[in-house]
Amino acid sequence: MGSTKKVGRAGRYGSRYGVGIRKRLIATEKKQNNLDDCPFCGFNTVKREAAGLFYCKKCNNKFAGGAYEVQTLVGKTIAKMVAQKSFLADAKALAKESESSFSDIEREVEEALINDKKE
Ligand SMILES: [Zn+2]
Repeated sequence: MGSTKKVGRAGRYGSRYGVGIRKRLIATEKKQNNLDDCPFCGFNTVKREAAGLFYCKKCNNKFAGGAYEVQTLVGKTIAKMVAQKSFLADAKALAKESESSFSDIEREVEEALINDKKE
């Protein structure tokens, strides 16, 4: 029960909540229940334990990630920014990726960079 041929596991909600939300739920639950590649050993053995918590059965590593997937698009960009210590260029790329109004954060980063140069 709760699963149909056409809408899959979202069938448990019947016609409730709207088709867009149910489609998003199917996409998210697929990511949530998939085995992922381990960033430490490379084996496809990483399982989600809780929201943002992942565990590799092969190498016994337990690590943090996105709520439903090992690494999100935004998380990947932030990790790159930290590793390369170049925040302004990637902040703009991040703004494009997330399609949100990122101008406030961008302005803060610019101000911080100006303050750093003054000191
Ligand atoms: Zn591993």
